[in-house]
Amino acid sequence: MSDWSKVTRPIPVPNEWTKPFWDAAKQGVLALQRCRSCGHVQHPPYATCTQCIGVDLTFEPVRGAGTIYAYTIMYHTGDKRFASAVPYASIVVELDDAPGALLAANLLDADYTEAKVGRRVEVMFEQLNDDITLPQFRLAAG
Ligand SMILES: [Zn+2]
Repeated sequence: MSDWSKVTRPIPVPNEWTKPFWDAAKQGVLALQRCRSCGHVQHPPYATCTQCIGVDLTFEPVRGAGTIYAYTIMYHTGDKRFASAVPYASIVVELDDAPGALLAANLLDADYTEAKVGRRVEVMFEQLNDDITLPQFRLAAG
């Protein structure tokens, strides 16, 4: 299993569009941007709704249950900060509550060979520092 304990990740820098996402993650909540005009849920956050071009956008909590939409296995240490975790799985997750909104993450607490398209996953939160907590995923129980 990948050893993430020695990985020193680049720390995300929230901006005006992503700050609500990071604020929620810090509280252990996965919150995505939703359009108040048409109800569309999107990720990553944008200045406008990608469906109706509406600008009345808010962030709302979503359940962290979803499926692996795509994945790649990192076998090489292009970025030395990730060396201890190689090989590891980078996954793209489609949430049950937000079809079409895709989150990039790592598959944690499982061998990288467990990453398969369609496999059920659930969110978990990896605290990177006092300000940033990263939503990650593990295989769903059951
Ligand atoms: Zn909309």
